[in-house]
Amino acid sequence: MKKTLIIGAGGVGRVVAHKCAQLSKEVFGEVMLASRTKSRCDAIAADIREKKGIDIQTAAVDADDVPATVALLRDFKPDILINVALPYQDLTLMDACLEAGVDYVDTANYEPRDIPKFEYKWQWAYQERFQKAGLTALLGSGFDPGVTNVFCAHAAKHRFDSMSTLDIVDCNAGSNGLPFATNFNPEINIREVTARGRFWEGGEWKETDPISLGTNFDFPGVGPRKMYLLYHEELESLARHFPGVERMRFWMTFSDNYLTHLRVLEGIGMTSIKPIKFQGQDVIPLEFLKAVLPDPGSLGALTKGRTCIGDVITGVKDGKVKHYFIWNECDHEECYAETGAQGVSYTTGVPAMIGAKMVLEGKWKKPGVWNMEQFDPDPFMHDLNLYGLPWQERELTSNPLAEIG
Ligand code: NDP
Repeated sequence: MKKTLIIGAGGVGRVVAHKCAQLSKEVFGEVMLASRTKSRCDAIAADIREKKGIDIQTAAVDADDVPATVALLRDFKPDILINVALPYQDLTLMDACLEAGVDYVDTANYEPRDIPKFEYKWQWAYQERFQKAGLTALLGSGFDPGVTNVFCAHAAKHRFDSMSTLDIVDCNAGSNGLPFATNFNPEINIREVTARGRFWEGGEWKETDPISLGTNFDFPGVGPRKMYLLYHEELESLARHFPGVERMRFWMTFSDNYLTHLRVLEGIGMTSIKPIKFQGQDVIPLEFLKAVLPDPGSLGALTKGRTCIGDVITGVKDGKVKHYFIWNECDHEECYAETGAQGVSYTTGVPAMIGAKMVLEGKWKKPGVWNMEQFDPDPFMHDLNLYGLPWQERELTSNPLAEIG
């Protein structure tokens, strides 16, 4: 009988817990959900019991505290730890896994709290230690990073002889009726959006001002939406693992309303991560802002509309230039009905479950630290269709993004 520990009881943790519980007999065995605030875990466990008639265990743990996490791991003895807390906890959780001998999966790469910068170098540095310990660490098993990497591996394996450009396009066309809210952790989301844009071209990184390059894209199931070039972490691993691709970019849609709020918040200093003194206390404006904004976990009941995320790829197959699009569409209300979470949590939580399933079933079990595109995409693609994120693909007559930028 396997055992699975999920750490982090936010929107994503809720979906992972629901999905693992559903497959507890076949794959995940006994499931435990732990977070700093145990009451959040208990509320999710109660929902799973009510909706699915399955019991999961809960616990309190501070994932910044390695000895406390190791103690929990030694006590519960899981086969795998699914980290859906925050990117700040990646390294401490990897340390704890090494100490307790547990495989590791996460959905977002490590970010130091005081530098708004995410890079794989900190986690890639664990390669040798995981190899020596005979343990697997699977990095970035969400949607983007995650499914978008697997889409790319699928295209490389089955649809192209060589690829020249990759554009990842991410649209959340959901609306929650609130003046301003982020779909996942506001602190992480705002750090990502306010950073300088960056893309890979001709063997080097090129930079743009934040949210300065935008274009329209016709998203299946959604329609045309304006999207903007951002730096996103999967570009770093994809550029490393698909060195032949000439240009790789990432685009995300934002409404004018979202961008106006963000500009005002930025303009008045509310997105800063530099502490300020307030009534004798050090306060980080962005952390305070997070406390004021709606909890993304509470948006499920309010969010309507669809998400659409995919990869637009140009390359060559059988000597001919080919343009291709592979994507998933997801409906916020359907996600909520199934798990009590909105689509952005769902599209992250399902791949986290599938990534862990790949490791537990031995399909992606290999000592070391790996990104998603380094494994055979086929079993993962199969499971996406089975567990709630069906994908579609089609050939395009031309690449709509070829001339942009
Ligand atoms: P939330 O903020 O809703 O949830 C995070 C949870 O982590 C909270 O329940 C919080 O628990 C818990 N947590 C925070 N610090 C600690 C700690 N020190 N120890 C234990 N638990 C802790 O975030 P989301 O659910 O929206 O996102 C979860 C992860 O998914 C993030 O890393 C995010 O970057 C990633 N993500 C990845 C995406 C992808 O496609 N790859 C897309 C969206 C998100 P508590 O309240 O108990 O403190």
